[in-house]
Amino acid sequence: SFHTLPSLIHLHAKASPDHPALVQDGKAISYAELDQLMDRVAAALQRDGVKPREAVAICAGTSLFYAAVFLGSLRAGVAVAPLAPSSSPESLVTMAGDADARLLFVDSAVAQQLSPVRGQLFMPVIALDGSDAGQAVDAWLAPVGSKPQEVDIQPDWPFNIIYSSGTTGAPKGIVQPHSMRWTHVQRGRINGYDENAVTLISTPLYSNTTLVCFFPTVSLGGTVVMMAKFDAGAYLALAQQHRVTHTMLVPVQYQRIMAREDFGQFDLSSFRMKFCTSAPFSAALKADILRRWPGGLMEYYGMTEGGGTCVLAAHEHPDKLHTVGQPAPGHDIRLIDDAGREVGPGELGEVVGHSPAMMAGYHKQPQKTAEAEWIDPSGKRFIRTGDIGRFDADGFLTLMDRKKDMIISGGFNVYPSDLEAVLHQHPDVVEAAVVGVPSVKWGETPVAFVVVKPGSSLDAPALRAWANERLGKTQRLAAVELAEVLPRSAIGKVLKRELRDGFATKLD
Ligand code: ATP
Ligand code: MG
Repeated sequence: SFHTLPSLIHLHAKASPDHPALVQDGKAISYAELDQLMDRVAAALQRDGVKPREAVAICAGTSLFYAAVFLGSLRAGVAVAPLAPSSSPESLVTMAGDADARLLFVDSAVAQQLSPVRGQLFMPVIALDGSDAGQAVDAWLAPVGSKPQEVDIQPDWPFNIIYSSGTTGAPKGIVQPHSMRWTHVQRGRINGYDENAVTLISTPLYSNTTLVCFFPTVSLGGTVVMMAKFDAGAYLALAQQHRVTHTMLVPVQYQRIMAREDFGQFDLSSFRMKFCTSAPFSAALKADILRRWPGGLMEYYGMTEGGGTCVLAAHEHPDKLHTVGQPAPGHDIRLIDDAGREVGPGELGEVVGHSPAMMAGYHKQPQKTAEAEWIDPSGKRFIRTGDIGRFDADGFLTLMDRKKDMIISGGFNVYPSDLEAVLHQHPDVVEAAVVGVPSVKWGETPVAFVVVKPGSSLDAPALRAWANERLGKTQRLAAVELAEVLPRSAIGKVLKRELRDGFATKLD
């Protein structure tokens, strides 16, 4: 039968009421407390006339109330649209409207950001942190002891509407049904989550990246330790203090943690499994983690839309660290050319994926949904990723770049990831991103943005000469720019479109 996430939490609350469910800043709430808070949220939504399959939006920093409102809404059969606080006020209004959110939950920082556009919001606003931004959540919640009416949630009902990262353009609302989240829970069991699991998360709760780790933990009765703001030193201290068993980090966070000189002083022996997803994860970094950080390392490649996930159990395949692994069980990954035909063995193509559970579609965007689909000759539905890749003879996928980031220079396809790999071989290079910029002579030409080690005397012309000696003729860099940091999205992805738009030099 179909157990929903809220019903599983209720079972844990009955079986081990005092077991901590969520911990943040030294404050813990038990499964019994979480279950009761969820009841109060669900009852308040029912009192307000919010119906099953309608949505509410949450736009706030990570907090215990955030998690409780998310889970409580699900109990009422209400979908949640978690919105990124880093979005512009205009786009927050657009997303909340697009989701038809019946209520909007905010914290005081978001409320301040929203004040110029408050008149354009057509739904009541509830303040999660007791600010005067809206009705205080304490007053909004149904009284202690309230019991919501039971809702018979169906597998195809919307669980959440996640707005895509917006790495390549305007964010799209991705509707994930309960059935799709359920597969994450099943994968959780395989990955060793259980009631003794302690999961440390330090990416935001509105990101799919975080949620694929958060939901398995609470559905299987473990404890989630939440960090509102990532800091490598604080992360390590928390991991040691809470005897953390599982974690999800994005590559740039791993990089900052591994770069700490005091890394070896922390006791990380409690770790069972570490996860990583969302952006290119260098083989050298994976190898360093395997060497110095106890427990397994699992990389996921996939997208919020669902439709084909690849998994690399790095600890089992130390010779495949340059890949993102093999299709997850039940997932079908193919590669297609520009004409939509499958490419031959060993050839490059756009990655398309089919999984047992995929997004229902982009919210209210049938045209965009249709564009994102690829149907194979037998009628099977796949989702296009926009990423370019190649399978090796063992069936492991190597990713090149996003199609939109590929550079066409003098008629040749230049893959930025190849150039970035060369730059990373320089001992003084910490981060490198290559983008194509307009060029009169070549149509497009590659330029590199590079962050060097503190104290390094390496300058841009010297690095350009060093790299060009090692690059093919069509790959040569027209320019290197040294940067303090690379522009990144809130989830840590390099924003290449910002680099392209910001490059002012005219190239001939
Ligand atoms: P948008 O679709 O709005 O431009 P986005 O594609 O970044 O944003 P997500 O669904 O969060 O939104 O990310 C999926 C993309 O992230 C993939 O298509 C891929 O480009 C990248 N990605 C995910 N996992 C990995 C990985 N393990 N290695 C390399 N890239 C990855
Ligand atoms: Mg995408």
